[in-house]
Amino acid sequence: MRCLFYLMLWIFLINVGGATVRMPLADGFDFPVGAPDGKGYYKARGMRLRSPIHFGEDWNGVGGGDSDLGDAILTCADGVVMFAYDVRGGWGRCVLIRHAYRDPKSGKVKFIDSQYGHLRSILVKNGEFVKRGQKIGTMGSNRGMYPAHLHFEMRHNLKTGMQRESVSRTLQNWADPTQFIRAHRRLKKDWRKHPVPTGTYAPYKGFKGI
Ligand SMILES: [Zn+2]
Repeated sequence: MRCLFYLMLWIFLINVGGATVRMPLADGFDFPVGAPDGKGYYKARGMRLRSPIHFGEDWNGVGGGDSDLGDAILTCADGVVMFAYDVRGGWGRCVLIRHAYRDPKSGKVKFIDSQYGHLRSILVKNGEFVKRGQKIGTMGSNRGMYPAHLHFEMRHNLKTGMQRESVSRTLQNWADPTQFIRAHRRLKKDWRKHPVPTGTYAPYKGFKGI
């Protein structure tokens, strides 16, 4: 019962009490490289929630090596930029985008975050609205730490942000990006603007998102 109470409180806070921005629902999801279908790229590593864990997918150009360095990285859907910052460490330059969409099964409005890691450059700012297929950055190697590739994640849990170790490894919290995109290629357009929660990431010292 106590769990249920906190869940209801959390839902209340993010829907009523929390900060929001208003934006139209996404009209569909595309792949983040080789618009719109990933042409010219391949998934070098998939998502895996069991050891060895990989919370997302690694996308590489078919040319191999660093032939894809500097290639366009595209937002997979319309959304708002929640985080765009060089966090250095193993991540480097990283962008998080929040999308609102109507779930084709339940008909309800849902939210999902997409994350783009190891970028060479970032072309968007916190709070900016972006359109499906818009160039948000370029493919990088995190200053030569890896052969150039895109690390791409999708999260159902809006609290995850840059603190993914604090979120349990379940499919309620994490989406398999390719599966999710394939199941949501085209969605019914809805021109009304909907409230989208912001300020959901657990704050920490030096946090730079919205
Ligand atoms: Zn990766």
